[in-house]
Amino acid sequence: MPLLADVAVPVPLSQAFTYEVPAALAGEVRPGARVLCEFHRRKLLGVVLAVSERSAAIDPSKIKPLTALVDARPALPAELLAFLQELAAYYFAPIGEVLRLALPAIEREQVRALKAQGELGGVLDLGRAKQVGGRKVAYASATDVVEEPGTLRGQAAAVLALLRANGEQPVARIEERFGNARSALKKLAERNLVALDEREPPRDPFFRRAEERDVPPELNAAQAEAAARIDAALAALAPSGGGEHAASAHQEPRPAGQEPRPSAFLLFGVTGSGKTEVYLRAIKSCLDRGRGALVMVPEIALTPQLVARFRARFGDELAVLHSGLSDADRHAMWASLHVGKVRVAIGARSALFAPVPDLGLILVDEEHDGSFKQEEGVRYHARDMALLRAHRAGAVCVLGSATPSIESVALVRRGKLAELRLPDRAHREASLPEVSLVDLRRFRAGPSGDPLISLPLHRALEKTLAAKEQAILFLNRRGFAPSVVCGSCGTLTTCEACSVALTYHRGRRRDMRPPSPGGAPAPAAPLDERPEGGRLRCHYCDYAGPLPDRCGACGARNLLLEGLGTERLEATIAGSFPEARVARLDRDVAGKDRSQAILARMREGKIDILVGTQMVTKGHDLPNVTLVGVVNADAALGLPDFRAAERGFQLLVQVAGRAGRRDRPGRVLIQTRNPEHPAIAFAAAHDVPGFLEREIREREEVGYPPATRLALLRIDAVDEGVGRGAAAKLAAHARTCPEGAARRVEVLGPSAAPIARLRGRYRFRVLLRARDRGPLRGALAALAGLIRDGLDRNARVIIDVDPVAML
Ligand code: ADP
Ligand code: ZN
Repeated sequence: MPLLADVAVPVPLSQAFTYEVPAALAGEVRPGARVLCEFHRRKLLGVVLAVSERSAAIDPSKIKPLTALVDARPALPAELLAFLQELAAYYFAPIGEVLRLALPAIEREQVRALKAQGELGGVLDLGRAKQVGGRKVAYASATDVVEEPGTLRGQAAAVLALLRANGEQPVARIEERFGNARSALKKLAERNLVALDEREPPRDPFFRRAEERDVPPELNAAQAEAAARIDAALAALAPSGGGEHAASAHQEPRPAGQEPRPSAFLLFGVTGSGKTEVYLRAIKSCLDRGRGALVMVPEIALTPQLVARFRARFGDELAVLHSGLSDADRHAMWASLHVGKVRVAIGARSALFAPVPDLGLILVDEEHDGSFKQEEGVRYHARDMALLRAHRAGAVCVLGSATPSIESVALVRRGKLAELRLPDRAHREASLPEVSLVDLRRFRAGPSGDPLISLPLHRALEKTLAAKEQAILFLNRRGFAPSVVCGSCGTLTTCEACSVALTYHRGRRRDMRPPSPGGAPAPAAPLDERPEGGRLRCHYCDYAGPLPDRCGACGARNLLLEGLGTERLEATIAGSFPEARVARLDRDVAGKDRSQAILARMREGKIDILVGTQMVTKGHDLPNVTLVGVVNADAALGLPDFRAAERGFQLLVQVAGRAGRRDRPGRVLIQTRNPEHPAIAFAAAHDVPGFLEREIREREEVGYPPATRLALLRIDAVDEGVGRGAAAKLAAHARTCPEGAARRVEVLGPSAAPIARLRGRYRFRVLLRARDRGPLRGALAALAGLIRDGLDRNARVIIDVDPVAML
């Protein structure tokens, strides 16, 4: 019988394809290895899912041999490969595209290398072929040898002390601190007190600065309890040495009546309660047990501080995965995990697929964050999948947040997650900030004249500046003015390709006329008072164009810039507080390293007032910030999305959590026209459990997750009729498939999406809702068949399981 391999290829199809394993490769083609195979006359890089000796189910003469083996050692370990297959099934996503998420991002180069080697025969060791760069760096570390007392003096003694205290260091880093580092190291190496090693360094910005080893603080009672429970869960794991064994041990029947020991947790700790310290202890205990750990954070570029704390505890033995890495660096990180040289990985969403060896622990920090949901390609939710991967690998999973997602709270209630609480701030002197609501219907504009900078906010800023403290102003709209409206006919200027308003961006101009005192500038500046050089931009597509000088609808030269964006807020604040150093943090200013630089300046006290979008709300620990102003709390609450209140609430609590993190008490001003809105009222009262309780009840009443399960079919087409037709056909099919007909799945729609047109395509949707997952999957399977063979080719359909973005 022939030896056959099931191979997933990177095409949008769900099934694997069968190839014959040539005799020469018989012992070497293993699951998880990449192979080169012929597919419709193209050579594609595929991944072996399984190998077996069997008779082929199809005509044997149609089965082609594999062209070449790419990985001598399977690129995907068994544990990861099994998880990826499960993920693909869960999301109805093509297996080839799911595998691509996990493979090191150098495929094209490897294919080129394969091509360069001509028509390929036996094993190609691309591990060796792939030594890009090759810039070596010298490292020094202390050995176990003990010196004769009194024989070392001066810098040699100091360098040795440093190495002993902080572990291995790059020689260059030591040279920065000691003028005679070279000769001191030479002397130390001669006496075998120090070992020198040369190797390729990670060229990652996160490693540029030296990080002193920290001294772990003593845990407070709540932290100690949380750490102990995680430790107990780690201790109860099956011994390391293979995910499969651990996974099967997990499923062994338990004695009746005995609850399984919890291995998944929700760490619910108020902002500043010291969750990070609990994470650090959990990782330590995981490493001590010989297993690897994976840490996921929402946006790694915004969390240099967090990475620094991990490095201070674990040294450079940490893979930091982020989008700023070059392909070569990413590969170096990936490889160091893959071979087990590094056992801890930290990164954003995509770190979910890191090949952490002997995975024992997955931590998801700020688990409520929307960025864990991938919104293009394979639409997976990294938090949900972290729970799945940990469960299958027989690992512990910890989700942490000050504002847990409703989904996670529901899992606690159903006994799937054990809750760990940190009710107080960790610093003894720190307390939660005092929150006041500013009802914008009652307060008028302060001296700046802008109604969104109320008198109370203005006064609070003055006080903060006088006390030499820092303030953060949060506004979730970027640009200068969020909309441009005709003052004569009222027409809103919208994007040609999208049904959304264009935003006016002033760009990098500093020479704005200072606003005249006494409230002169109206919220909408007339055209002739605007600075030149700005652009209109669409926040949904790449459109950017000049500001027209007249209304496109009626021709009047009366376009008004309406509303307040971060650019304008920054300018207005700078004008009103000329003595203050004002900076802005949003996606427009945050290039690769820029956001880190701005946050660093903030931490160093070189900025007095930081204006920004969501980016300012994320987990920063800025001890001198005593005032947080939420400029317009209502902006996020009115969206047509069942999670709008939850998201608004999380934003408010998180941004408020930036205030008063040390001995100085913090103050938060929330400006709103809607002070009774539950998201605002509960946030003002710091009542997270109260909000969660109410929101869960609300979801139960309206039948939205977590009370039900959703899947969204997203349909779009250039032609409106084609899109509408496809949506109607899908909805009809969903209603008549067995699950739909029996009403186990409810079908809502078809309807136009809230953003009805995007990038020139008309968008429609059909929402499926069910109490249980089984029927929903049944209906989706039926629809997947229709999508594959029965729809207009000009319509694109995406199945979004557990959708997050509803626009
Ligand atoms: P969170 O992640 O919950 O927002 P952090 O981990 O950033 O909180 O902790 C807030 C601050 O408290 C940090 O400055 C941290 O160093 C400090 N901290 C944490 N745990 C302790 C402790 N046990 N004793 C003293 N300080 C602590
Ligand atoms: Zn657009």
